[in-house]
Amino acid sequence: MEKILLIEDEEKMARMAELELCHEGYTVLKAADGLSGLALAEKDVDLILLDIMLPGLSGLEVLRRLRKNSDVPVILLTARDAVVDKVAGLDAGADDYITKPFAIEELLARIRAALRKQAPRRQSGEGTLSAGPLTLDPARHEVKVNGAAVELTNREFELLHYLMQNKGLVLSRDTLLERVWGYEYPGGANTVDVYIRFLRGKIDEKIGVRLIQTVRGVGYRLTDEN
Ligand code: CA
Repeated sequence: MEKILLIEDEEKMARMAELELCHEGYTVLKAADGLSGLALAEKDVDLILLDIMLPGLSGLEVLRRLRKNSDVPVILLTARDAVVDKVAGLDAGADDYITKPFAIEELLARIRAALRKQAPRRQSGEGTLSAGPLTLDPARHEVKVNGAAVELTNREFELLHYLMQNKGLVLSRDTLLERVWGYEYPGGANTVDVYIRFLRGKIDEKIGVRLIQTVRGVGYRLTDEN
């Protein structure tokens, strides 16, 4: 799962974002000022959310120092109407920016886009899984139905990935919960049912065939043998 570093001094905003990102399946590191953020950025993180107005070292200064030796994707969190910040930020090597206050769905979409852009630098195509007209490329974080891209949330992607890795096998709700959400997830087995429904809406209904089958009293199975 991708690791996101959030450098943001507004505690309420940081906590809200952390909660949503964790819920989406990302691992989150947090820093409340520029210097400690820069220190954490040296760890192996996949993406950085960087507030511009930070105490101590400003976000732009953090970005300039970071870019001397790292090409990790950076999304700036900027104040409304701070056009100068946005331009300076992109010039300094930011990949994208989002204006506060933002809808969490928009932030998640921008994170996925930034991570996807990064993905071709990893090996793509390798390890691609398929089931009938459905393909999943873990390196590019890409799912396609008949060659057309399907937009999935991170958690939906992880669930589908696990189902496809175990194609043909019946997986219990508990197993899926443990492998996709982790032990500490408080949501319970109903969560699995909800996400299976999401996946069917985005995939099975497009194909018109039920790839994800319910095995009554046990769990779920993904199969292309109908
Ligand atoms: Ca701030």
